[in-house]
Amino acid sequence: MLQSFFQALLDFFLPGFCLFCQAPLGALSDNLVCPMCLKEVPWLPGPVCVCCGAPFKGAVGLEHLCQGCLTRPPPFSRARAVAFYDGAVLEAIHRLKYQRQLVYARFLQQLLTDSEAAALALAADLAVPVPLHSLRLRWRGFNQAQLLAQAFPQLPLETGILERQRPTLPQVKLSSKERRSNVKGAFVVPDPQAVAGKAVLLVDDVYTTGATVRECAQVLRRAGASQVEVLTVARVGYA
Ligand SMILES: [Zn+2]
Ligand SMILES: [Zn+2]
Repeated sequence: MLQSFFQALLDFFLPGFCLFCQAPLGALSDNLVCPMCLKEVPWLPGPVCVCCGAPFKGAVGLEHLCQGCLTRPPPFSRARAVAFYDGAVLEAIHRLKYQRQLVYARFLQQLLTDSEAAALALAADLAVPVPLHSLRLRWRGFNQAQLLAQAFPQLPLETGILERQRPTLPQVKLSSKERRSNVKGAFVVPDPQAVAGKAVLLVDDVYTTGATVRECAQVLRRAGASQVEVLTVARVGYA
C-alpha cells in the first residue's frame, strides 16, 4: 500500500528536464537525466572482489577475493554496487535523503535496473531493504532503501522481515571498528519463518565499510535465509 503510494508519487513528479542541469529532455523521454549528466555517473570499474564487490585499484585481469574478504569472510555471498559514492550519485542520494526530493529515487532506481548489478535480483526470492529505526523513519517520512528496492517490481518486497530494534548513531563519522559495534545487535528478524530457506536480496543506498549489511546479513542467515546478497546503488573506496 505504502509502496504503491510512493511509486505513484514518483511517477507523478517525473519532470521534463534533466534533474541536474535542467536541460529539456523531450516529452516522451523516460530518462531523468541528459546524456551529458549521465556521463557524470562514476560507474564502478572492473575487476571487483568476487565477494564484496570492491573494485581493485588500477587492476587488470581476473576477478578474485580481496584481502578484507579473505581475512573476515562476510555473511553475505555477494555484494554489488552500481557506482562510486561520488558525483551525480552522491548528489542524488543527498537530495533524496536530506532534502526529501523523491524524484531522485527514480533516477537511482534507473541506475540499479540498467546496471549489471541488477543480475542479483534474478537470483533472489525476495527483496529486503535495510530498515531504518521507527523514529528515523517517522522523521524522514520514507526509507530510501525501500524506494531503491522498488526498482525490481517482479521481486516481492518485504519490509517487515528485518527490523532495527534500537536507534544507532549515523555511521558517517565513525571508524570501521566503531561502525561494527554501533550496529551490533541492532537488527532482528521477528518472524524467522518468513525468511527460512529464502534467497534474500538485501538493498541499501550506500556500502561504506559493509558493517551494516554484514550485521543484517548475519541476522538473516541466523533466521534461516538460504543466502543473502547485497545490492547498493553506491559504494565507497577500493579494495
Ligand atoms: Zn543534465
Ligand atoms: Zn572483498
